[in-house]
Amino acid sequence: MTEKILTRNFGRADSHTLAVYRETGGYKALDKAAAMQPAAIVEEVKKSNLRGLGGAGFPTGMKWSFIPRGHTGPVYLVVNADEGEPGTFKDRYLLERDPHALIEGMIITARAIRSALGFVYIRGEYVEPWRRFSTAVREAYEAGYLGRGFDIVVHRGAGAYICGEETGLISSLEGLKGWPKLKPPFPAIKGAFGAPTIVNNVETLAHVPHIVNRGAEWFASLGTKTQGGTRIYSVSGRVKRPGIYETSVGITLRQLIYDEAGGVAGNGRLKAVVPGGSSAALLSADEIDVTMDVDGLKNVDSMIGSAGVIVFDETVSIPDALVVVARFYAHESCGQCTPCRESTGWIYKMARRIAEGHGRKEDLDTILDVAKRGAGTTICAFYDGAVGPYISYIEKFRGEFEALIPRA
Ligand code: SF4
Repeated sequence: MTEKILTRNFGRADSHTLAVYRETGGYKALDKAAAMQPAAIVEEVKKSNLRGLGGAGFPTGMKWSFIPRGHTGPVYLVVNADEGEPGTFKDRYLLERDPHALIEGMIITARAIRSALGFVYIRGEYVEPWRRFSTAVREAYEAGYLGRGFDIVVHRGAGAYICGEETGLISSLEGLKGWPKLKPPFPAIKGAFGAPTIVNNVETLAHVPHIVNRGAEWFASLGTKTQGGTRIYSVSGRVKRPGIYETSVGITLRQLIYDEAGGVAGNGRLKAVVPGGSSAALLSADEIDVTMDVDGLKNVDSMIGSAGVIVFDETVSIPDALVVVARFYAHESCGQCTPCRESTGWIYKMARRIAEGHGRKEDLDTILDVAKRGAGTTICAFYDGAVGPYISYIEKFRGEFEALIPRA
């Protein structure tokens, strides 16, 4: 069994407090990091193979190294805690149960990228995580960990999924509408308030103190060849033990479902799995012998994304599941790009009429055509993340949709 790193304190009483965090070795990595040059911290994180755990899976150390050399103005660190991907609920536990791990990770990261100010953008609906994290920030100020060269501002979102996209998040943080922007320029060059900005996810930064304490090689050895460490998988749907599971990123989807989450509930027979949040392509029951790291899922044309695993047993209707996902994305499109604004709505309407038994013969091909035609034409990745999975629902389970369409 993989050693628990991020969740090691979750079972302890008052694990969210500074006292318990310190008792279990918390804030020790700060001394070690203080003796390292910023570039050495970046190199250590590069060697660890830590990858972004919010969705995109970009190598973390490499992202840090994109801050322009010789830049003398402000640099910002922004933590994306706007966890809104359906099926994903792991960052909330980190904020609630071990908030000091994120603060320590931020202080070390700030040293690596030479930042004096960090923002933590917390999903508006996460009231308790916000309270716990804000209390932890206060404790860290009182103990002198913050306020000596690095400050943290806690900012609450207002419920828009698109504010989890890094440029949309930055716009919202600046007090503007949470609309994504075209990249380049990437935030590391021109981000919050026009300054170089590194945007990282909560879980990603919570790993950083452990990497500094125990070394890049140790961390890299926990995972696969191209991704180090553990991560927290949110497992929901038709499993016997839904919840969060921290394991090596080298675990297979089959092991996660059967060994960790107790197997398939409902009628006990697996039909399909969403492996990485609702933006990930659906896998059928015979595709689960795949490692749950970035490259493992890429190899089967899906993605690990935010590691939100949703399990469907045989009683789940795939057309109904598509309606739920399509309604979500039609509602959450920010509306700037025509393909995204219009197509997400059209697809939702077509998926709904099929599920309700009023579909037209041409609807399935129209959905596939619309979904494929718009790919890569929009400002941000929302559209591809929304409609990409629809293709897998229809291509892998077409017969189920066709059975609901009345014959002319
Ligand atoms: Fe907005 Fe969709 Fe365009 Fe992204 S792709 S900017 S969510 S309209």
